[in-house]
Amino acid sequence: MRLVLLGPPGAGKGTLAALLKKSLKVRHISTGDILREEMKNNSALGQEAKKYIDNGELVPDEVVTKLIESKLTANDRVDGGYMLDGFPRTKKQAEALDRILKKIHRPLDYALYLESTLPVIIQRLTGRRVCRGCGALFHVKNRPPRREGICDECGGILYQRADDNAETIKTRMEVYLKNTQPIIAYYEAQGKLKNVDADKDSEELQAILMKTFDEGHKLNQP
Ligand code: AMP
Repeated sequence: MRLVLLGPPGAGKGTLAALLKKSLKVRHISTGDILREEMKNNSALGQEAKKYIDNGELVPDEVVTKLIESKLTANDRVDGGYMLDGFPRTKKQAEALDRILKKIHRPLDYALYLESTLPVIIQRLTGRRVCRGCGALFHVKNRPPRREGICDECGGILYQRADDNAETIKTRMEVYLKNTQPIIAYYEAQGKLKNVDADKDSEELQAILMKTFDEGHKLNQP
C-alpha cells in the first residue's frame, strides 16, 4: 500500500500512521519526525529547520523535498509500500513528489484526507506528549501513558513539543489553510483522495481503513 496522509495539525496523522504501519507493514516516513531528530542531533539541517519549526512556519520546499527524495530512492526502501506523513504540505511539494514517484515506479494508491474540527484539534495538540526516545505519541487525557511522563513503549521521557503552544498552533493552522488545504483538490483531481472522519477514535479509524483497503484490493484483483 502506498499512501500520503493529509490533514491539519492535530488531525491525528501520527497516531493513525503508527497503527496503520503495524497492520500494513509499510515504511512510515514523517518529515516532522525526521526534522525533530535532526534538531535533537543539532545537525546543520536541524539548526536550519528549527528557525521555521519553532515559529510554526514551513521549512522551505527544496529542503524537505530533497529529504523525501533521499528516503524514497534509497535502495529497497519502499518496495513494500510507504506512508508519507506530513509531506506534501504545498502544491510544489505535491508536484515534486509525483515526479519522484514516477521515477521510482511507485505511484500512490490513496491520499487520505483526515478531516477534523477545530475544538478537537486544539484539545489534541495541547494535550499531546511525545517520547524523546522513540517518538511514540501520547495524550494526557485521550491516551495517557501507564506511568506519568514515561513512555509505555521504551521507558523514555515524554515531552511537550515546543510548537504545541496556543500561539504557534494558531500560526500552524493559518499556514495549513493557506498552503496545504489547496493540495486536497490536487489529489481529488487525480481520483486518489479518500476523506476520513478524523474526529473518530484512531483505532476505530484504522479498522474502517483496513476494510476499505481490503475491498479496494479485491476490486483490483484480476
Ligand atoms: P509535523 O510533525 O508534521 O507537525 O511537522 C512539524 C513541523 O515541521 C511543521 O510545522 C513544519 O515546520 C515542519 N515540516 C514538517 N513537514 C514539512 C513539510 N513537508 N514542509 C515544510 N515543513 C515541514
